[in-house]
Amino acid sequence: MPILINVFTLLFTIIAMECFSWFIHKYLFHGMLWFLHKSHHQKAKSFFEWNDLFALFFAVLSLYLMFTDRENFGYRFFIGLGITLYGLIYFVVHDWFVHRRFKTFKSNNAYLRAVRKAHKIHHKNRGKDNGRAFGLLFVRKNLLENQ
Ligand SMILES: [Zn+2]
Ligand SMILES: [Zn+2]
Repeated sequence: MPILINVFTLLFTIIAMECFSWFIHKYLFHGMLWFLHKSHHQKAKSFFEWNDLFALFFAVLSLYLMFTDRENFGYRFFIGLGITLYGLIYFVVHDWFVHRRFKTFKSNNAYLRAVRKAHKIHHKNRGKDNGRAFGLLFVRKNLLENQ
């Protein structure tokens, strides 16, 4: 049943990426990589931020995984595809909806509003230390209920 394994690998990668990005956001971006991530906690001076390099890094990594496994469509291909899909979800929810890099996406969806509320809590702190809410897609139930 390779198809089931592939679907599982894909879904697992997407969920693992959310956990992984919570981890690197908390311990690397607000740690030794703060010099790049800082740009995302300040008022944007231009459309691109140094922080975008992280997205570029994951795009290159996922393309590499898919490209090198393009002939047998093994687990590396589906991990790469999962990273790509997570990147797209992250871009749409974080950059497009929450930060409004393009002013074209509005929604009253309760889940999306809870995600935005949680991420605004993260951005309340402009500094490196004492941050909160490092994840993006998993939101606390009370944020969903207090709408
Ligand atoms: Zn941050
Ligand atoms: Zn943000």
